[in-house]
Amino acid sequence: MIFSQVSQAPADPILGLTDTFKADTRAHKVNLGVGIYKDEAGQTPVLKSVKKAEAKLLEIEKTKNYLGIEGVQAYNQVVQNLLFGDKSELVSQHRAVTAQAPGGTGALRVAAEFLATNTSSKTIWVSNPTWANHQNIFETAGLTVKQYQYYAAATHDMDFDAMLADLEQASAGDIVLLHGCCHNPTGIDLNIEQWKLVAQLCLEKSLLPLFDFAYQGFGAGIEEDAQGLRAVAKVVPELLIANSFSKNFGLYNERIGAVTLVAEDKATADRSFSQIKKTIRSNYSNPPAHGGLIVSTILADDALRAEWEAELTEMRQRIAQMRTLFVESLKAEGVTQDFSFISRQNGMFSFSGLNKDQVNRLRDEFAIYIVGSGRISVAGLTKDNMPAVCKAIAKVL
Ligand code: PLP
Repeated sequence: MIFSQVSQAPADPILGLTDTFKADTRAHKVNLGVGIYKDEAGQTPVLKSVKKAEAKLLEIEKTKNYLGIEGVQAYNQVVQNLLFGDKSELVSQHRAVTAQAPGGTGALRVAAEFLATNTSSKTIWVSNPTWANHQNIFETAGLTVKQYQYYAAATHDMDFDAMLADLEQASAGDIVLLHGCCHNPTGIDLNIEQWKLVAQLCLEKSLLPLFDFAYQGFGAGIEEDAQGLRAVAKVVPELLIANSFSKNFGLYNERIGAVTLVAEDKATADRSFSQIKKTIRSNYSNPPAHGGLIVSTILADDALRAEWEAELTEMRQRIAQMRTLFVESLKAEGVTQDFSFISRQNGMFSFSGLNKDQVNRLRDEFAIYIVGSGRISVAGLTKDNMPAVCKAIAKVL
């Protein structure tokens, strides 16, 4: 039989954990695995700005006709404004082209397949560590994945010199995957001076930056979090961006993101776009409409945009508070090890330094679920679950 030859795939390290969590019958269980924002009540509600945009859309919707391959036109325009700013030269020079995509994952996959099929760029460098799905996406699309050092476990900080040294080994035309902000899993980002050095290195060595930008607004703010991307786009003539609105609009299950290509001139951008569209056509033909319509409706309406920005600020500030409380609560539980680095990290995640045994004990003995690498989703911590989490960590250390 044909299907009897199929082997069992390993469980996904993050989503597989959610399945185990769901099957756990212990009432006090806590899931700090997957990157989902929870409010103080431990819920992931639909944003108010999103509900209002959906009500508006329901009223005006006249057809479920197909979108074009590139998605909602107005959406693609607002994506460029968010990425590059309202007064971006490269946007006004039409050097950027954007296609709506099913989430950041879909955008990364389209970008990777476009590169593997149409260019001589076949090797991509990703940070060590990186989001667990990167290697999977890129290898499936036909790219070879190499790693550059990013994190120094001893200092719980980034090892920028090692990153540069590794990227010095890259060949002309190689792709470099960069996390735009809120690096997943470490929560440690480049500062603006470091971004400029990376931009210079990419220019000098003819490396192609591919930004994974899944957390705009979760670090320091919408504009602030785009500083690295904009610094690189100012220096290099060509780059790609895969962005996602899963987290900052809370649109996880709508699957909404975009792939953006920046070329040295409009003609090259347009020609490249024809191949991006061909890639999309052979994968899913054209994107689902709802997420793109929500985002473009909110961003085109001053009042809705202001409401969304306030909701995003609230999410960002709650996570920052949880970081501080986490550090304080661990101390209060008698933990003497220095965890102050947690309050210096950005975004949803903290690389805790907990080892596999400790992660397993947290799950088996205390029903606290974190990823095997020791990555904790701080966005899943609340004032209510904090004492239990910190008590358990104090016990396994
Ligand atoms: N990139 C990074 C770094 C992520 O953390 C995630 C989601 O966890 C994604 C991409 C994928 O986002 P989406 O859910 O929009 O596909």
